[in-house]
Amino acid sequence: MTGTIDLNMVNAYIPGRADVGAKTAATISRRDRLLGPAYRLMYERPLHIVRGEGAWLIDEDGRRYLDVYNNVTSLGHCHPRVVEAICKQVATLATNTRYLHDTILELAERLIASVKGTDLAHLMLTCTGSEANDLAYRIAKVRTGGTGIIVTDTAYHGFTDAVSQFSPSLGMSVDLGAHVRMVPAPRVYHAQGIDMAERFTRDVAAAIADLKRHGIKPAMLIVDSVFTSDGILPDPAGFLQGAVQAIKDAGGLFVADEVQPGFGRTGEHMWGFQRHNVVPDIVTMGKPMGNGQPIAGLLVTHDAVAQFGRDSRYFNTFAGNTVSCAAAIAVLDTIEQEGLIAHAARTGAALRDGIAALAARHEAIGDVRGVGMFVGVELVKDRVTRAPDRETTSRVVNLLRDKGILLSGCAMGHNVLKIRPPLVLNSQQVDMVIQGIDESLAEAALGMTSG
Ligand code: PMP
Repeated sequence: MTGTIDLNMVNAYIPGRADVGAKTAATISRRDRLLGPAYRLMYERPLHIVRGEGAWLIDEDGRRYLDVYNNVTSLGHCHPRVVEAICKQVATLATNTRYLHDTILELAERLIASVKGTDLAHLMLTCTGSEANDLAYRIAKVRTGGTGIIVTDTAYHGFTDAVSQFSPSLGMSVDLGAHVRMVPAPRVYHAQGIDMAERFTRDVAAAIADLKRHGIKPAMLIVDSVFTSDGILPDPAGFLQGAVQAIKDAGGLFVADEVQPGFGRTGEHMWGFQRHNVVPDIVTMGKPMGNGQPIAGLLVTHDAVAQFGRDSRYFNTFAGNTVSCAAAIAVLDTIEQEGLIAHAARTGAALRDGIAALAARHEAIGDVRGVGMFVGVELVKDRVTRAPDRETTSRVVNLLRDKGILLSGCAMGHNVLKIRPPLVLNSQQVDMVIQGIDESLAEAALGMTSG
């Protein structure tokens, strides 16, 4: 890794910036030697985590960190119900989708039931969210005969060759495809007085027209329905409707990428798109689906996938294996039995309100927004220009890490604190996060004035 700031990560570890101690330095150089130059570490002083438990991560020295960033282990680290389901299944049978097995069918029934009232009728499984979006694109191309893709300007949808071409948040050195058009993300805070539904619809319609003008038939509009990497932009509820209609009218599909908001994080529904009252042709999902066990996939309408299914065979060695399916079923059971969607709504609101109250004494807080267990805190240089304050954001992320609270940043200006705790966060932990942000903002402001 070079000594320059990695433009794609507000919280990247930058060699030489902070004293990490001899032991950590030795592990970092071993890692660099063995894993090569493409991996990144988080925080100025990277963490060496050895254990997880609920919302806590524990490092090699036994220090505990409150993890309010990890939406993979969305039920909390090592949730006993998921651990038990994995252990039981792995001790019984771990095999693939070329044999009949009930776990995948039970999982499909459960997930299809979660989108009742739509035409989403089939479940196809992958191992990662990237693969799910890659598969969605293949299906969309076959269904529409087109190749054009519309995404928001700081979107992330995954790492494969095809998907990185429609993941502009990867930065300027990763090429966008010639068949990809970007629309501005719905940054309500920077577009005051504008009707976001109207503007977003207009931008998507213009992107469709531009694709057609270049002889490219639209295949799909794909959005993360809470616009995570764009800066956590869930509002106003319903603003996606016109854009979804526009892509459907143009013969393209609407793909809701639920890798981030899915599985109850919004505190309202199982899926983020339901907040907008729109019906996708494909819903992709991943991260929290197995609470750490790698499982991802998509729900798709029969109409969208019929020809793809006739023409191509789908097999993905590990995807849909019995162990991952058992984990995903345990995740669904836990969300239901622990009432985690309602809990996410209540606790997430307390977190947002608490942070919003801090704005009275911290000028840097420009906007506090989110839905359920998803909170974005936009930090600005001043509240009039709303200019992004990347430096303070990076400082606060690292100060919080030193206080034992883990979160990160996002958005085009790298100036939005991204807070995405496990759904089981409790009110005492909410208070810790609020207090930590309060102290870190104060210390960051002092550091800035004293140079
Ligand atoms: N879509 C979104 C919205 C994501 O945030 C991510 C991962 N951050 C992906 C897709 C890709 O998922 P994975 O890392 O499992 O390939």
